[in-house]
Amino acid sequence: MRATELLAPTLREAPADAEVVSHRLLLRAGFIRRVAAGVYNYLPLAVRVIKKIEQIIREEMDRQGGQELLMPILQPAELWQESGRWDVYGPELFRLKDRHDRDFALGPTHEEIITTLVRGEVNSYKQLPLLLYQIQNKYRDERRPRFGLMRGREFIMKDLYSFDRDEEGLQISYLKMHEAYTRIFQRCGLRFRPVEADSGAIGGSETHEFMVLAESGEASVLFCESGACDYAANVERAAQVSPPEKVKDNLKNIAEKETPDCRTIEEVSQFLGIAAQDIIKTLLYETEAEAVAVLVRGDRDVNEIKLLNTLGCLRVNLAGEETIRKVTGASRGFSGPVGLKGIKIIADLEVASIINAAAGANKDNIHWINVNPGRDFSIDIITDVRMVEDGEPCPCCGQKLKEARGIEVGQIFKLGIKYSKLLGATYLDEGGKVKPVIMGCYGIGVTRTMAAAIEQNNDQDGIIWPAAIAPFHAVIIPVNTKDAGQTALAEAIYARLAAAGLETILDDRAERAGVKFKDADLIGCPLRITVGAKALTERQIEVRVRRTGETTMIPEEKLESAVLELLKEL
Ligand code: ATP
Ligand code: MG
Repeated sequence: MRATELLAPTLREAPADAEVVSHRLLLRAGFIRRVAAGVYNYLPLAVRVIKKIEQIIREEMDRQGGQELLMPILQPAELWQESGRWDVYGPELFRLKDRHDRDFALGPTHEEIITTLVRGEVNSYKQLPLLLYQIQNKYRDERRPRFGLMRGREFIMKDLYSFDRDEEGLQISYLKMHEAYTRIFQRCGLRFRPVEADSGAIGGSETHEFMVLAESGEASVLFCESGACDYAANVERAAQVSPPEKVKDNLKNIAEKETPDCRTIEEVSQFLGIAAQDIIKTLLYETEAEAVAVLVRGDRDVNEIKLLNTLGCLRVNLAGEETIRKVTGASRGFSGPVGLKGIKIIADLEVASIINAAAGANKDNIHWINVNPGRDFSIDIITDVRMVEDGEPCPCCGQKLKEARGIEVGQIFKLGIKYSKLLGATYLDEGGKVKPVIMGCYGIGVTRTMAAAIEQNNDQDGIIWPAAIAPFHAVIIPVNTKDAGQTALAEAIYARLAAAGLETILDDRAERAGVKFKDADLIGCPLRITVGAKALTERQIEVRVRRTGETTMIPEEKLESAVLELLKEL
């Protein structure tokens, strides 16, 4: 590609509203332009990267026996009504009407469509297993579209659905996808971790998220620091190690203490001179059905996902002032479990074994001290209901957990019979018995992966593409375009590298060399080939590695092999 023919409008300054580095660099390097919130034009450079990521995905899906198909983005409401998701999906679903006033949705995901397809076409065990996938635009009216391609409202996703006869089959499909995802993100040159994630309240299904490790990640993950153990979990899911049983002797007498205006754990701790971990934090939550009290140690936070799963409800929200007063008789900041009536009490494992703790007294400006569970109040459910923190022991091996930020680039999920049951996708087994098809779903955000790659690979000068997904392998820069010898040599190199199967940009613009160098760094192709005066006199070509800034002089005749060799490492 010649730079004079390429639409890659680079910008000196980053637009002010771009918060993360991938967003800034994609705009500055001329890869994307915004059309609306979370909706972008992908310019030619971006399309080249997207195609490379898609190609890697295709190869790995096909390697596992996946078959590519293409389903409609425009989906009739009837299918969503049949699965029940027309009502529960909420405002994230883009909805529209056709000229006959019929309801449609733009696909945010394709379980309804594919399950209906399989319902119609598969009826015997002989047709299973099946792995079907597509790569196409998805639509989600995200509450906060942001960070450029990271959280768009229109984005490109690969979604694969597996159909099996039984749980064993599903396990095989799941492991195939786990392996495929690992290979895909490795081949893309990313540092990532598969982490256990929460599968929701719908019952023991397994799910992993593939997280690219980067400071700007919206997710928090905990992983075991010991090299021997590979435990890693989304913080929503990470399990605490049961606290050691405490010997329950030396129980002191419970007593009331005035705590004027002390509402936060910190204020109570300071005023009473009691460590936060010896205070019981009592939080009132409301579900769609009831109010509940949740107890965690004063230095801990409630994990609302664990709470949701414990209660098996649809939503949990912190109760407002009015509910707090109604339930406890006191204002916010003085709730406690002692004497609390008519409400379920859920205590974290650590609270169950606490002794002589402080807790709110359900009276304004008063706390109890020397509160002991069992003796002073009873607990309805004792369970792990708190957030696990950096430095805590690993639930697998007991070594330390470390917290890191991650970008979710993919997720694999065992669906079981959820959709096949709702939509009636069944097959006849070997004995002629009707059985529901067992499903899994597996997504990769293609455009998000492109952004995540930049989050991990950049410096002050611009993007540094891993060679496997770079838009071009190299940029060829004639230093002085007025010098006929230099331009002719650059042209010759351009033709030779193309013949060797290499993709390059020939920067044939009549710009100063400095401008071209800057743009080359910004766009971030792995190699820069500079054709200057020396190239002509000494027949040595300067090749510079974008990532390290190292330059090597290569004899002109060895250029192709040297470039191919260098790319292997990048
Ligand atoms: P998130 O929790 O980040 O909203 P999700 O769990 O809803 O994502 P999935 O339904 O698992 O996403 O979709 C599969 C993949 O699609 C994700 O792993 C992610 O890479 C990508 N993806 C999801 N939502 C978006 C979005 N709004 N913009 C870009 N990519 C997205
Ligand atoms: Mg997900």
